[in-house]
Amino acid sequence: FKQKTAYEIPLRLVGSEMCIRDSVDSTPIFFKSGNGSKMIDIDDNEYIDCVGSWGPLIFGHAENQTVEAIVNCSKNGTTFGAPTELETKMASKIIEMVPSIEKVRMVSSGTEATMSAIRLARGYTRKDLIIKFSGNYHGHFDSFLIKAGSGAMTLGKPDSQGVTENIAKDTLVAEFNDIDSVVELFNENKNKIAAVIIEPIAGNMGLVIPEKNFLNDLRAICTENNSLLIFDEVMSGFRVSKGGAQELYDVIPDITTLGKIIGGGLPAGAYGGKSEIMDHVAPDGPVYQAGTLSGNPLAMTAGLSVLERLNDDVYSKLEDISSKIHEGLQINIEKTGINANVARVGSMMTLFFSDSDRVKNYTEAKKCNTTHYSQYFKSMLELGIYLPPSQYECLFLSNKIDENDIDCLLYTSDAADDSLRVDLGGRRI
Ligand code: PMP
Repeated sequence: FKQKTAYEIPLRLVGSEMCIRDSVDSTPIFFKSGNGSKMIDIDDNEYIDCVGSWGPLIFGHAENQTVEAIVNCSKNGTTFGAPTELETKMASKIIEMVPSIEKVRMVSSGTEATMSAIRLARGYTRKDLIIKFSGNYHGHFDSFLIKAGSGAMTLGKPDSQGVTENIAKDTLVAEFNDIDSVVELFNENKNKIAAVIIEPIAGNMGLVIPEKNFLNDLRAICTENNSLLIFDEVMSGFRVSKGGAQELYDVIPDITTLGKIIGGGLPAGAYGGKSEIMDHVAPDGPVYQAGTLSGNPLAMTAGLSVLERLNDDVYSKLEDISSKIHEGLQINIEKTGINANVARVGSMMTLFFSDSDRVKNYTEAKKCNTTHYSQYFKSMLELGIYLPPSQYECLFLSNKIDENDIDCLLYTSDAADDSLRVDLGGRRI
């Protein structure tokens, strides 16, 4: 790899990059800066960034307005441990944008949002069990690390050590896009299921799109059984449309969890829903949840600076960029005859090295040719194109990706001795 500077393993065990060794047989790259669609590593190599910090950077790196807003805000103090007007402004913005949310609570990460949502669902329904879907990832809270996607999937250790059997037994697992698997769990556990939590557009086993009626059917089953439907829109929120997947598919969950874009690149998350349910959160209600830096002024400022600019033009530009990449990859797949397909919703997309036409659940996702993905990832990296370092993640494109970036990503050459040619296109940036 291009990066020369070596770090010891213990130093490398940082954040989400730790799985890169196992998923694509590589060494994590350390980055020092970013601007627009580009990132620079510590050896000054430049890359086109197709990961966008796993979702938050819808306007790209070091985006002027957001940076300026953060700098200005920090001059007035960075945290007060008390309410601010910014937090209220953010709450109003979320309520305006996300169809199902009437009241909302800020937290500092996606994990905090989902774990709090589950506690709330249990407190509200006075039931214990939850249903999740295999290959869905909802953060690193114990209850979710059962057949989880994302890093847990690429590491091949879906059940993390440290999660006790007692906790694991309260999490039931259904198959994504298989409503019968959900019905069966409800039938076997009458009046015991507090909530069904789902990534309505699954992004953590690669991008898996919900089939027609799947989310509607889930909605109906939850209502019938007095269980709550939780949409984990940490990835899809503000990404696939202003109102997230619930707006796109017109299905209203009881609770929604948000993260990533909501913080504009700083740590933030939120969970919200119907007032009647949210009123159960302390101090109004008996379900405890709190956080020292929740609603942090800098995070709220950064997030607001992004949310306030999300309009139809932004989404149509993202669609234009993403559809060009999608179509280009499709053409390259056909040219080479490689068994692969592209799944995409808006600016989220995965290139699956799969024999099946469409990956629709965890079982199929697991059959992908991860060796081939790893080769593709590495050859693109050599060219200066930074893709998700795992078959089981998504590209999150920013509106700063330009025509030249797209050309680099898709370029193919017929010259047999072109050492830069890789199976599915790409040229040096
Ligand atoms: N839910 C989903 C759908 C996610 O994709 C993630 C993170 N990728 C999380 C929850 C957890 O968010 P965080 O990493 O901010 O804790």
